[in-house]
Amino acid sequence: MQKRRRIGVIGGGLSGLVSASLLAKSGHEVSLFEKKQYPFHRVCGEYISNEVIHFLNREGFYPHQIDTPKIENFEFSDTLGKRTQLKLDLGGFGISRFVLDHWLMEKARECGVEVLEGAHVTEVNFNAKEDQFELELASGARYQADFVIGAHGKRSKIDKVLNRAFIQKRSPYIGVKYHIRANLDPKVVALHNFEGGYCGVNAIEDQKFNLCYLGSREQLRYFGTIEKMEEKILWKNPLLKSIFTKSEFLLDRPEVINEINFESKNPVENHLLMAGDSAGLITPLCGNGMAMAIHAGKLAAQAIQSGGSRTEVEQIYQTNWNMQFRQRLMVGRWAQKLFGSSFSSRFAFHLLDKSPFLAQKIIKNTHGTPF
Ligand SMILES: Cc1cc2nc3c(=O)[nH]c(=O)nc-3n(C[C@H](O)[C@H](O)[C@H](O)COP(=O)(O)OP(=O)(O)OC[C@H]3O[C@@H](n4cnc5c(N)ncnc54)[C@H](O)[C@@H]3O)c2cc1C
Repeated sequence: MQKRRRIGVIGGGLSGLVSASLLAKSGHEVSLFEKKQYPFHRVCGEYISNEVIHFLNREGFYPHQIDTPKIENFEFSDTLGKRTQLKLDLGGFGISRFVLDHWLMEKARECGVEVLEGAHVTEVNFNAKEDQFELELASGARYQADFVIGAHGKRSKIDKVLNRAFIQKRSPYIGVKYHIRANLDPKVVALHNFEGGYCGVNAIEDQKFNLCYLGSREQLRYFGTIEKMEEKILWKNPLLKSIFTKSEFLLDRPEVINEINFESKNPVENHLLMAGDSAGLITPLCGNGMAMAIHAGKLAAQAIQSGGSRTEVEQIYQTNWNMQFRQRLMVGRWAQKLFGSSFSSRFAFHLLDKSPFLAQKIIKNTHGTPF
């Protein structure tokens, strides 16, 4: 083992939990700061690409005790509900973040990570003279670390503290998630379009389904409530209307977020290694953000495990990150243009229906290979 280093990980989503666990396994002293208490729900479609399966199995991170539905087909409908299906090359599985993140957090503790819940990091400074980081929590507690992994997701106060460029830009999107019981095919991940957005539906554990959509902040403002907006906009797609009216909704209320920003970001900022959404969020239609977060967590850990100097670690991470993710993020941003309006969704329908080979190619370009 190289020199034992003190690592601080900000955020206990997939990228944070994976990087922390791998580093602790290899003997580093790791503290992970998560502002919430596990288990908790997040806005996420909860379809996870099979590219992560080998890795999760190899590291003992796959939750075999949970019955995770295997997803093999992709269904697409345009805003009028005209639908088509495609076989997925790689496929994936469904699992709620409530279950998966909690399981990974317990694994992280088993690996030796100090997981601090309810620990909101409010300040992070790199002290060049001391060559180390100083972190401060909302509670006033302070920590020092040799390396910090920024795994704080798509948007956090930490981004303001770091004065990152993307934080200045407002986003037109909202995200809404439900868990439902529905009479649908568990082998299918569906993307149903509506004017202004798209809605994913797929099976997760316990015969439940996830229904999660990316909608428009402006439409929500116009209609005043989520329910009204859904009725007036989403239900114009008859397939969505049928799912909404025939399913049992299981959460007390939907999970809702705003400010979902797809701007490009830097994977290394102020010497923090940014992993997962903090380095760039892929458009949700790709169904690949969770796999990318897990993979980025692995790359961040490997860069630190290289034992190199700070500059070398940052270079290794940046190079590998660019190789794995930069193009995928670009293709995802481009593909998003095929969704969310009647014209573009009709175009996408014809592409999928008449040129499945081309459509497969686009899907492939938003995904990585098993690692
Ligand atoms: C609408 C929508 C649908 C999606 N659907 C899918 C899908 O079906 N499949 C897929 O693969 N991807 C999907 N994604 C993307 C996926 O959810 C993300 O890419 C993934 O969750 C990123 O993981 P992460 O570890 O980077 O961040 P997160 O999972 O967001 O974790 C970040 C953590 O950091 C914590 N945190 C933040 N700031 C601080 C702080 N200052 N101090 C301490 N803790 C902090 C947060 O509480 C959070 O727990 C979707 C995204 C959206 C918006």
